[in-house]
Amino acid sequence: MRKKLTIALVAHDHRKADMVDWVIYNSDFLAEHHLVCTGTTGKLVREALNREGVFPEITCMNSGPMGGDAEIAAMVVRKEIDMAVFLIDDLNAQPHEADIMMLLRQCRIHNVPIACNRYSADLMITSTLWDDETYKPMEPLYRKFDRNKPE
Ligand code: PGA
Repeated sequence: MRKKLTIALVAHDHRKADMVDWVIYNSDFLAEHHLVCTGTTGKLVREALNREGVFPEITCMNSGPMGGDAEIAAMVVRKEIDMAVFLIDDLNAQPHEADIMMLLRQCRIHNVPIACNRYSADLMITSTLWDDETYKPMEPLYRKFDRNKPE
């Protein structure tokens, strides 16, 4: 891939082992990009990649429950994030549910690709569209659909 991406990485506590495994599996790819992480995720990602001999640019925000997801959501709004990998713990309640919803919502509104499982993340990082100069992502249309109106 020619383009250097800014990739957000967030993993809840029960998904951190999965995130660490994912970044090691994709360490050659991630080496070339800028990673923006919530606090604890970033620390673990940095340690794992450094152990692999890979030293990407990593920016750590606050820990998720202390506002890290909200900080990343603000970057999404400012168009500073190209894609996000967000490994959510769907089996346990989180104290910062509102921030989690906000990050997901802002990615949807601002058309930022967000993978919530490893398979989606692998598909995203192997897409050829990143370097396709002719491809322009379609922004979401918020138009009311009136089923009774003729075409
Ligand atoms: P953490 O935050 O990486 O600081 O644990 C993740 C989260 O809980 O959103």
